[in-house]
Amino acid sequence: MRIGIDLGGTKIEALALDRAGREVFRRRVPTPRGDYAGTISAVKQLVGQIGEGSVGVGIPGAESRATGLIKNANSTWLIGKPLRQDLEKALGRPVRLENDANCFALSEAVDGAGKGAAVVFGVILGTGVGGGIVVDGKIIRGANAIGGEWGHNPLPLPDEKDFPLPGCYCGRAGCIETYLSGPGLSRDYEQITGQRLPPEKAVLHEETMKRYEERLARSLAGVINVLDPDVIVLGGGMSNVARLYTQVPLLWTRQVFSDHVATRLAPPVHGDSSGVRGAAWLWEES
Ligand SMILES: [Zn+2]
Repeated sequence: MRIGIDLGGTKIEALALDRAGREVFRRRVPTPRGDYAGTISAVKQLVGQIGEGSVGVGIPGAESRATGLIKNANSTWLIGKPLRQDLEKALGRPVRLENDANCFALSEAVDGAGKGAAVVFGVILGTGVGGGIVVDGKIIRGANAIGGEWGHNPLPLPDEKDFPLPGCYCGRAGCIETYLSGPGLSRDYEQITGQRLPPEKAVLHEETMKRYEERLARSLAGVINVLDPDVIVLGGGMSNVARLYTQVPLLWTRQVFSDHVATRLAPPVHGDSSGVRGAAWLWEES
């Protein structure tokens, strides 16, 4: 049995896959927000309901290669904690821990929109913007455990519509995340119209979406020029916006350094389940 845990900021989801990759168990519980010991014991309870099996855990952050402690997590009560060791102690077995965007990319690469592709870039466009890279079925973690984290690069080629550069929680300004996250879309809508709307309403506004698509195309072109992926799979709330898959590839050709762009932009096959599925697949990486 392969057990996957998606340790999110609002819910913890557990899933078990049998040898053939079929889902045999799934349950979600609310995350004990701000409570580290409670978070460990919630995971322990879920795994206890499943029993034996390998355990992979996806987290909204990363394990520091330098210290083994959690960093870059918006679930801030995990930051600075030896989460993997504590989970291994609680569960009595080895645990693989991975950034949730990397889990998303792995899930889509194994049996989703990137199945059969050599190089897959998985993109999260949600409350934040993240990403993960899978090459030949293997996650590229990188020297700093930030492989694929394009969300805090500056937006390429900012023009007058992109100024003033929005401040980002990371301490910089003009990060891709401040334009392409759900809240970033709402902020942009407000800049155009003077009104505040949630992202799911702001996506209905033509001018807002045109700006969004143009920025997404510029930002992904930068990724294509470096990584040259076969497939870019979108995840997160914005991945439900169907027009992105037709509009953005028309726009990114201007910035991609190639006469023809073969890279596909694809919606996720597993949607919201990709995080927890990818966590389970952490023990099956080829
Ligand atoms: Zn930032």
